[in-house]
Amino acid sequence: MNPILSALPTTVFETMSQLARETGAVNLGQGFPDDPGPEDVRRKAADAVLNGWNQYPPMMGLPELRQAAATHYKHWQGLDLDPATEVMVTSGATEAIAGALMALVTPGDEVVLFEPMYDAYLPLVRRAGGIPKFVTLTPPHFGLTEEALAKAFSPKTKVVLFNNPQNPTATIFGEADLALLADFCVRHDAIAICDEVWEHVVFDGRRHASVLGRPEMRERTVKISSAGKIFSLTGWKVGLVMAAPAIMRVLAKAHQFITFTTPPNLQAAVAYGLGKEDGYFDGMRADFQRSRDRFASGLRDLGFTVLPSAGTYFLNVDIAPLGETDDVDFCRRLVTESGVAAIPVSAFYAEGAVRNVVRFCFAKHDATLDAALERLAHRRPR
Ligand code: GLN
Repeated sequence: MNPILSALPTTVFETMSQLARETGAVNLGQGFPDDPGPEDVRRKAADAVLNGWNQYPPMMGLPELRQAAATHYKHWQGLDLDPATEVMVTSGATEAIAGALMALVTPGDEVVLFEPMYDAYLPLVRRAGGIPKFVTLTPPHFGLTEEALAKAFSPKTKVVLFNNPQNPTATIFGEADLALLADFCVRHDAIAICDEVWEHVVFDGRRHASVLGRPEMRERTVKISSAGKIFSLTGWKVGLVMAAPAIMRVLAKAHQFITFTTPPNLQAAVAYGLGKEDGYFDGMRADFQRSRDRFASGLRDLGFTVLPSAGTYFLNVDIAPLGETDDVDFCRRLVTESGVAAIPVSAFYAEGAVRNVVRFCFAKHDATLDAALERLAHRRPR
């Protein structure tokens, strides 16, 4: 058996969701919304199942979805994409990330990663034969420095893989960070794989800037998006990949032998959804922001130290002021004694020794958030 995979534990999301089911806890661990998602988009999918094409769609994705993606990203992010050569549909962003690593990394190449990182990244990098080089980001700001990048990049750097906005930190690499990263990529002739699945889930009036929009990165970026996060339909697993034709040709080779295609009915519904009016996207953000604020203020009232959340479905709590020194143990007690499931952020670090941050998902109905707060109020973990 392959030692990289056989040595892996079950993902922390599955472990915590399982524990939540067993204990009847309020599940604020794994990140998925309570809301069923936009009804018109779901009806479109249902209609396409009943009346549409249910055989293999084109390998690169339905032409109407690739065109809708190009139009959508022109409108929202100012990107000029050729739908015929620069857009591909995958079965979720995770397939896109795995495929991009398979396509771009040759064993022995170095891959720069930012920890805490989404838990799929490191095993996929290793399985592709990449040598991980970490930039460690630390709370409360999880900021990027030139010194840290200079230590991680080398003449062997082939790829830098990052998430923006970032899960689990709920922070965003802004213009200055992206400029710095771009500078390192150009100097080291590296390609950026940018997982931008949270691009629409940004708060307080922010607007997402894609690294693909930077002229110096136009030919060296793989932008990855996900209908799951754009439409709060996390089970759909429809991903979008955008890259210049020279890169896309190789990404397509990986895709053709991983999944080959993605269900055509879901693609048709996503094509429709991407063309929804601005109000839908603004309303979705506003709703999540309201949930964030409701949960954050509830936590603060209970004496928790809440870290800022600029985007994603998550907010983090610093447990050090509670005298806690082990986030894994804290989360175990939180679920068994308080009846609330959360995610220990140390699960996203490979090297850094950060053990004082716990992630909560606030993309829930008020009643769910209030139930969690009530449990925390009455049964604070000891
Ligand atoms: N993206 C989700 C999260 O961060 C988890 C997805 C999964 O369980 N694989 O919570």
